[in-house]
Amino acid sequence: MFFRDLDGNLRCGLPDFNLEGGRVKKWAIKDLSYFIGGRDVDLPDNVWDLEIQEAFEEWEAVADLRFSRCNNKEEAHIVIEIGEGEESHFDGAGGTLAWAYLPPSDSYNGQLLMKFDIAEFWITAPSQPGILLKNVAAHEIGHILGLNHSDQDGALMSPHYDKNIAEPQEIDDISRIQELYGNPNKETIECLLKKKKKREIRREKRREKSAQRKEGNGESTK
Ligand SMILES: [Zn+2]
Repeated sequence: MFFRDLDGNLRCGLPDFNLEGGRVKKWAIKDLSYFIGGRDVDLPDNVWDLEIQEAFEEWEAVADLRFSRCNNKEEAHIVIEIGEGEESHFDGAGGTLAWAYLPPSDSYNGQLLMKFDIAEFWITAPSQPGILLKNVAAHEIGHILGLNHSDQDGALMSPHYDKNIAEPQEIDDISRIQELYGNPNKETIECLLKKKKKREIRREKRREKSAQRKEGNGESTK
């Protein structure tokens, strides 16, 4: 959950607390499923889904965890919804951006909810005005996995929103998640790298195409 603090910075609304007596909160299982129950219209559905998927993959790349999308809300471990206004504990544009629950025990095997405020303007590139969906999703997934806030500036789990931080960082995040779930296995990392490469190639092609289209349009108006 993010809100604007007294200095005007966006921060997560989850209070900075030390887990009572260092009590561990985590899942009992390492294969977790997620269900996307709603999307903001700021982004096409497939783009929204891809940003969420990439946020999960960032955690998969650094810990012994696997996430899969599931189409049955009842069976999902993680439910991702959108909301608006007071009934969803949101407050209009700015302020609180999203929120998520932490596992209530050290061997949880139920369902947890994450919600995004549709009053925000969700974006996918830092050059656009708005809030980066992947960055906020990755932070909230950290809470879902059992991480509270980091007191390290520059960590993904720092309570402050940072458009340049979209993945778990060497400072703090990675060691903390590995302490809970262990290191990722080699095959997972290789598979993720391949996926990432393919996606980058596709993105590059899309960029080239849209640049060509713009050029084409430019000529036709002369
Ligand atoms: Zn937070």
